[in-house]
Amino acid sequence: MAEELDPFKIAQIQLDEAAEIMDLDKQVHAMLREPMQSVTVNFPVRMHSGATKEFTGFRVLYNNARGPGKGGIRFHPAENIDTVKALAAWMTWKCALADIPFGGAKGGVIVDTKRMSETDLEALSRQYIRSIGSFVGPHTDVPAPDVYTNPQIMAWMADEYSKMHGRDEFGMITGKPLELWGSQGRFDSTAVGGMYVLREAAKLRKMNLRKARVAVQGFGNAGHFALDLVTKMFGSKVVAISDSGGGVYSPGGLDYKKLQEAKAKGSVDDYRGGQKITNEELLDLDVDVLIPAAIENQITKANADKVRAKMVLELANGPVTPEADKILFERGIPSMPDFLVNSGGVIVSYFEWAQNISGYYWTKEDVYSRLDTIITRSFRDVVNAQREHKGRKINYRMAAYTIAIGRVAAAMKARGWY
Ligand code: GLU
Repeated sequence: MAEELDPFKIAQIQLDEAAEIMDLDKQVHAMLREPMQSVTVNFPVRMHSGATKEFTGFRVLYNNARGPGKGGIRFHPAENIDTVKALAAWMTWKCALADIPFGGAKGGVIVDTKRMSETDLEALSRQYIRSIGSFVGPHTDVPAPDVYTNPQIMAWMADEYSKMHGRDEFGMITGKPLELWGSQGRFDSTAVGGMYVLREAAKLRKMNLRKARVAVQGFGNAGHFALDLVTKMFGSKVVAISDSGGGVYSPGGLDYKKLQEAKAKGSVDDYRGGQKITNEELLDLDVDVLIPAAIENQITKANADKVRAKMVLELANGPVTPEADKILFERGIPSMPDFLVNSGGVIVSYFEWAQNISGYYWTKEDVYSRLDTIITRSFRDVVNAQREHKGRKINYRMAAYTIAIGRVAAAMKARGWY
C-alpha cells in the first residue's frame, strides 16, 4: 500500500494513535480531528508593474480552548489547505506541550517569493493581512514567521493591521523586528530551543556532543542558525548541509562563513571544498545527529531504513512520517519530535506577545533563560510520559502527544465544551 503523505491525514493518524493510547473521550477525539475554523481567501494585489494579480491564501484556527490561535504564515508555491490544517494542528500540540496560553493556528499563501520584488512582496503581505483581518488579532489569533516569511513581512502586517484599526496593535503578530517591538532573541529562538533539547537528549542518551558529527537539512529560519549554534554551544562538527538547491558534504567539517557566502550567491551547494550531495543523500549520511530543518515528509517509509544517524532532531515541522516513525523506533534510533524540538520559536513568540501586551521589555539573557526553563521542562515531561507508558513502548512523539492532548482536553472540559 502506498504511504500516506497528505500532512493533514498524517496529523489525524498521529492523533488517533495517541487517542487510543490515552483512551481519550470519543467526543473530544472527534472534535480534535478537525479544525474549528478554516478560511480560504482570494485577493487581488496591484503589482508594481501596474498589473493586478490574484492570490489565494489560508488561515486555519485549529483549536482555541487554551487561548488565542498561534502559528506562522508560510509563503510557498505549493501551499495548500491540507498542509495548513496539519501545521495548525501541530501548533495546537506545540503550544499545549510548552504550556503557553495559546491554541494552534497556521496561515499560508500560494506564492513563489523568489521571483518577487520587495515592493510586490510588501503589497502582497499587506493585502493578505487585510483579507484575513477579521480572523486575527492579539486576543483571537496571533500569526508569526514561517517558511519564506521574515521579520520585515511581520512588520508590514503589523502596520497594515494597526492602520485598519486606527491604533497600534503590535501584539497581533510576533517575530517582528526589534525596531517594531519584536523580542530580543526571537530571530534564532527556534534553533536555540532545539539546541537546549539536543543538550538534554544527549545527556539522556550519553552522547558526547563535543565529538558529534551533525548533518543539517535546510538553511532557512531554523537550519542556518542551528548549524552555527551546534558548533558554538557544544563544539560539534557540522559535516553536511543542504537547501532546496542541493547540499554539500565534508567529513572534516564545513565553515559557517563560507556557507553564508555560497548561500548569498544562490545555494549552499556552491560551497567550495566539499562534495556535492542531494537532499536525499544527506539523510543517509553516517552522522551522530541528523537535523531535518526544512519541510515536511523528508524521512519516509522509502528511506527510513537507510538513516544511519544515532539520533534525529526534528527542527522542521512534520519531517518524519508515521511509517518512518515506526521504522526508526524499531531500529532504536530516537527521533526527538518536532513540536518539542522546534517549540523555541513559539515560546519566544509568547514572550514577545506578553511584552507587547504589557509594554515592558526584557533583556536577551532573560529571554534565553526563560526559554531554557520552559523547553527543558517540556523535554522532561516527554521523557517521563514515555517512561510511564513503558508497558506499551511508545515513542517520544506519542509521549508528547499524550501530554498535549490531555491539556487541550482539560481546557475544553473546563470551558464546558463537553
Ligand atoms: N512558525 C513557527 C512554528 O512553526 C513559530 C510560530 C509562532 O511563533 O507563532 O512554530
